Formats: sequence, structure tokens, C-alpha cells
Amino acid sequence: MNNENMDELTLLEEANQRARRYLESVDERRVFPDAATLANLEAFDEPLPDLGRPPLDGLRLLDERGSPATAVSNGPRYFGFVVGATLPAAAAAERLMLAWDQCASSFDNSPVSATVERIAARWVVEALDLPRESAVGFGTSATACTLVAIAAARRTLLSRKGWDFDADGLIGAPEVKVVISEMAHITVKKALRVLGFGMKRVVVAPVDGHGRIDPDRMPPLDDMTIFCMQAGEVNTGEFDPFAALIPRARAAGAWVHVDGAFGLWARASSKGFLTEGVDGADSWTTDGHKWLNTPYDGAMVICRDAAALASAMNSDAAYLSGAQDAQKNLNLEFSRRPRGIPIWAALRALGRSGVASMIERHCAQASRIAEGLRDAGYDVLNRVVINQVLVRAATDEHTVAIRQAAQASGEVWFGPTVWQSRPAFRISVSSWRTTDEHVDRLVDQLAELRTRL
Ligand SMILES: *Cc1c(COP(=O)(O)O)cnc(C)c1O
Repeated sequence: MNNENMDELTLLEEANQRARRYLESVDERRVFPDAATLANLEAFDEPLPDLGRPPLDGLRLLDERGSPATAVSNGPRYFGFVVGATLPAAAAAERLMLAWDQCASSFDNSPVSATVERIAARWVVEALDLPRESAVGFGTSATACTLVAIAAARRTLLSRKGWDFDADGLIGAPEVKVVISEMAHITVKKALRVLGFGMKRVVVAPVDGHGRIDPDRMPPLDDMTIFCMQAGEVNTGEFDPFAALIPRARAAGAWVHVDGAFGLWARASSKGFLTEGVDGADSWTTDGHKWLNTPYDGAMVICRDAAALASAMNSDAAYLSGAQDAQKNLNLEFSRRPRGIPIWAALRALGRSGVASMIERHCAQASRIAEGLRDAGYDVLNRVVINQVLVRAATDEHTVAIRQAAQASGEVWFGPTVWQSRPAFRISVSSWRTTDEHVDRLVDQLAELRTRL
């Protein structure tokens, strides 16, 4: 071993020790940094050095000033945005992958990545009980994956009309229409906007009081329409009525896409009945980095027609003979890390029963929070079908003040939202580290804040 090697190993050892100290403290840390800690972030504002500085010194700076300034979403008391924590199995796989430094574009670039991601793809489709012939592209986010799915949808609908999108683009093409839920996630709208579907032209399907598309008020669909549905609305956790609407949409020849960023994982548990009929859609997006508790930049686009996805995302030099199972032909990136591997590691470590019990535990904990907060005098605004609790105090001022005080305490963190034009807050249970005791502490704290403020 030469000296450079020694330095590398010492540095990684140091990083591991610092990571270990961080993880040992996630239970006690402030969930969100206080003002003094945030001010310490100024230490990073150095001029770009002319001469390289010692890496150990950089690591120390990152840990000493950076670790305290994290939002402790990898801890048990973070209830914001369904972000989830990271399972040890997934984190460990990620560590090993860093040493490999693989480019996961195809088998030739990385045999191990292509092999493990192919298995991960199969397991994801099985865990979510989606059509087994579907292709799975591992993308950075549900946002990027939705963009990919909709691009494939548009290209397919146009080709059914004899239009060659790849050659002729959109100018002069038959119009492809889009119908989305009134409650569609902002990132679905972003994907549509980026793809050139003008927001004024997108048709909005009205929702019922729970935030689900109302089948009785559905806009018309035809064979040139992409219909975007939702599995897990961000505020209420509710599901669109797939069983009622997907057969109708498919009979009309429309393409159905489902945004299931977090909620689709309910299908891998005893809550699966909420997703009944979702497997009839044409494409789905879901995240690993939310409810499956894998590290960030781990999401999936799943497409029933594998060839439709592979040809829309084709990046083979020999253009039309694209390998349908190379990841570079199933998502946006060409060079990328094997982000399907932490997803494989999580599924392997949990197994079907482990995924189900994590999801079910979070749902039960959300119900426990809802019950506790109702007893404490709060209004719980949703039915708490899965892991989301939408909460309001008697007045808007009280709601905002309580949320701000809870955030400032560093004990817990959850985010604000607006529901039916009034402020509310949203508590998401999605960390594998959260126990019933953490949940009870949250309820006690909110009960105390409600009477004190
Ligand atoms: C988080 C979320 C998204 C976006 O997912 P990213 O992975 O953050 O891009 C889309 N839809 C829903 C319902 C979400 O909760």
C-alpha cells in the first residue's frame, strides 16, 4: 500500500467515525438547528483556495459546522414532508457503492450495477404488485420520473396516430391533452410545464371533500389524452378512485399515469385495498427516498409498455436497436451511480413482511397522533387513511403560532400547509426510527403548546 492509499483509508475511517457519532446522536439532537448554529454556517464562506487544503481539515469543518446544521430527517422526531430516514441496510450499500464508483448506464459499464438493478426492478414491481412486464427506470426523483413517464406517454399517443415525434417534434403534431387532479402535486405540474404542455391548456379534474378526483365530475377523456392520477395526496394521504376511473380511461384509449411518490407503498401492506385498480394504469412513479427509507436520489419510473419507455429514453448509439434493459435507455441520465442498489438492499433486508410492517406501523402511529390531538382539542381535518395527519387549531393565528413554537423547540419538526384556503399543519410519519414513544411525546408537546399559547 502506498502513502496515497494510506491517506485515503485514514480519511474514510475518519469519515466513518464522524458518521457514527452523528448517528449515535440522532435521538438527542435538535431536529432543526437554532439561530446560533445557523450563524456558524458562515465558516463555509471561504474564498476558493489557490492551493488545496488538507481533506481531513475539510471533513472536520463539514462535521463540526455542518452536522449541527442538518435537519435531522434521519432521526425519529422529524415529521415533515414524508421524507423518511435511511435504513441501515440501504446506507451500508451506499457506502460500499462509493468505493466502487460505478457508472450504472449499462452492463458493459458496470456488470454488478446492471445485474442488481435488474433484480431491484423485478422486486419493486412484485412488492407493489404492478404488471410484471413493466420496465423500471431508476431516476433521481419522482419529479424526474414523472417527466420521463409523461414524455413516453406523449410519444406513444402520437405514434398511435402515425406521428413520428422523434423526427418531427411537436410543431404541427396532433394535440395531446392532459387531465390532472385539482390536487395534483406541484412537481407533476412542473413536469408538464417543462415538457411544453401549457398550464392554461391542462384540464383539471375536480376533487371531493377528501381530495380525491370525483368520478361524477370527470372531464372527458379520449385516445389523445394523458390522465394523471394520484396515489397518496400530500396533505390527506388519500387515493384517487382507480377502480372506478382507470377502466373508463383505458376504454377511451387514454394513457393513465399515477403519481405515487410515497403513497404507492401502501400497496405493499395491508393498506393495499386503498390502491385497488391502480395496476390498470400505464405508468407509475414512486420514490425510494420517501416511504421506503432509502437515501436521496432514489426514485422509479415504472412503465407497463417496456418498449415505450425504452424508445422514449433511448440513448444508444445504434439508435433503433436500443437495449431495452439498459438503464441509460430507461431514465434521463446517461452516467449515474447505481441508485437502484440501495433500493435492492432495503427490499432484501426488509423482505415483503418488513416493508408491510414498517408501512403499517407508520399508519398506526399516524392514527395514534390523530386520536391524541383530537383528545387535546385539535381539529384533525383528514380521515388519516395512511401516514398523514392534517391538523388545525381553533383559529388560524393559533395554528401558525403552535407550529412555529414546535419548530423552534427543536424537539420535533413538521411543516405548514394550506387546506381549503386556511393554514394547517401536516404531520407525516415515515421514519423507520420513530417509535410509539416518540409519537406520544409529539402529542404531549402539542397538547401543552395548545393550552400555553
Ligand atoms: C414528494 C412528492 C413528489 C415529488 O417527489 P420528489 O422525489 O421530491 O421529486 C411528487 N408527488 C407527491 C405526491 C409527493 O409527495
